[in-house]
Amino acid sequence: MGPVPEGLSAFVRARLDDEDRDADLFHEPSCRIAVAAGGTRPSGPLVPAGCDCPVPERMHDEVGLKRLTVRDLEGRIERAPDTAPSLDAVIALMALKALALEYASHPRWREEWRP
Ligand SMILES: [Zn+2]
Repeated sequence: MGPVPEGLSAFVRARLDDEDRDADLFHEPSCRIAVAAGGTRPSGPLVPAGCDCPVPERMHDEVGLKRLTVRDLEGRIERAPDTAPSLDAVIALMALKALALEYASHPRWREEWRP
C-alpha cells in the first residue's frame, strides 16, 4: 500500500508526547509531591517517587500502549505491497486515522487525515 500519509505519524507521535508530558499535571490535591512543591505540579516523563496518584500512571500507560499500536499500524501499512490491494493495510490506515482523530481540534490537524 506504500507509505503512511505524509505528516500523519509525526502528528500522532507529537500528540502522544504532549499527553505523556501533561500526564504529570493530574495529581490529587492531597498529593505530598504536589504539596511539597508548594502547589506547583512536578513535571517530567516519570511519575515522581512517593506519588501514588492514579491518573498520571494510568495516562503514561495509555500513551505507551498507543505508541505500540501506532508502531504496529505503521508496519502493517508500510509492509503492504504496492502492486496488490491489501485489506489489512487499508484497515490499519483507517485505524491510524481514527487514532489521530482524537486530536482533530489541534491546530496541526489536517482534514485529509479524517477517516
Ligand atoms: Zn501525585
